Amino acid sequence: ADEFGMIFAYDAGRPDTADALAERLVEDMGQRLEVAGAVIHTGASIGIARIDAGCETIEKLMRRADIAMFASKNAGRNRYHWFDESMERELNMRNAIESGMRDGIPLGQFVPYYEQQIDLATGKLHGFEMLARWEHPTRGLIPPDIFIPITEEIDLIGEVSESLMRLAFEDAKTWDPKLTLSINVSPVQLRDPWFSQKLLRMLVESGFPAARLDIEITESCLHQNFSTVRTVMGSLKNQGIHLTLDDFGTGYSSLAQLRSLPFDRLKIDRSFVAELTRDQTNSKIVEAIISLARGLGLPITVEGIENAQVLDELRKMGDLVGQGYFYGRPENAAETSARLAHKKLLATSTVIRQVIKRDPAAELRASLAPPPLDRKAS
Ligand code: C2E
Ligand code: CA
Ligand code: CA
Repeated sequence: ADEFGMIFAYDAGRPDTADALAERLVEDMGQRLEVAGAVIHTGASIGIARIDAGCETIEKLMRRADIAMFASKNAGRNRYHWFDESMERELNMRNAIESGMRDGIPLGQFVPYYEQQIDLATGKLHGFEMLARWEHPTRGLIPPDIFIPITEEIDLIGEVSESLMRLAFEDAKTWDPKLTLSINVSPVQLRDPWFSQKLLRMLVESGFPAARLDIEITESCLHQNFSTVRTVMGSLKNQGIHLTLDDFGTGYSSLAQLRSLPFDRLKIDRSFVAELTRDQTNSKIVEAIISLARGLGLPITVEGIENAQVLDELRKMGDLVGQGYFYGRPENAAETSARLAHKKLLATSTVIRQVIKRDPAAELRASLAPPPLDRKAS
């Protein structure tokens, strides 16, 4: 197809011979061509491997060259890379994660965790951010930074995210209806023109009110397919879903862009917040973002509050919603439920269900009551 191999001998002490050749190939292959009046742009990504101890067969040599070529492609194409062992280790790990994921999804190993979001002025619970976790049977809890990028690459993000959302809607229905649920969506999902219809269907099926849902969209996702993203956002908004700009300050969005999108809230990334008390520049940045958001008429969430000093600093900056390890780590559904029961913040129906379940007198009465009439007989 479009892959070619070349094999040649060189003095083992002069690997730069191979470098020079690869450089020339990349340069020559990148020349502009004119064929029958049409301009053709070509390019080459090269991987180099050599026969040595541990790599004595042609099969192995080809595999190593291939792995190195993928490294060149990943690094931006039109370049060359020598194979090195770490590339193979990384590939093996990635493959292990991928096949583990394919097995783990139907087994329900991907579950929602919840991080509290607090109204900083009153200390009252505002809602939760759902964060995906992989409960791996042998490796323990795997964080989303490890598996989300792979689910995106192998096109499983939609499936994983939808199953997490369904679970989260069911969980959140048992909470006090004042509490909101924030969900992160991937740029890949936002480029799907059917995303908002899919979400609406899930909301209808689960009976979770759109007004309690907040979709977090990272700033970096606004740059690709801007018009599709804007259309999807518009229709989410029309369904009554709230939209938050996540990781604000890390993704170079322009003010013009921001104003043209129907965001309801800004979220300041934890990279600015963590160092708040130690670093003057960061507190200036946080203040600037807060006044910018005020100018745009948007409320603000701050993430990454790890200690009381940072919290004090933030409290001085006005009305904010905040989250972070200071308030607690993200917890699973059962721990979240226990936390809410303790605060008397479960939905009334949930409370009643639990009371009935745990009322021995009621159970005794039920067991003494005559058996229900057989429907068919009546
Ligand atoms: P994010 O949206 O910026 O989420 C906040 C991350 O910061 C979470 O990491 C959270 O556990 C962590 N965090 C919260 N408070 C603190 C704190 O006080 N200190 C420190 N050091 N960290 C804190 P997590 O759960 O590992 O998530 C990482 C990222 O993965 C998230 O960043 C989000 O972009 C992505 N993600 C999580 N769940 C999903 C999901 O269901 N779908 C998609 N597409 N992305 C997800
Ligand atoms: Ca987020
Ligand atoms: Ca963040």
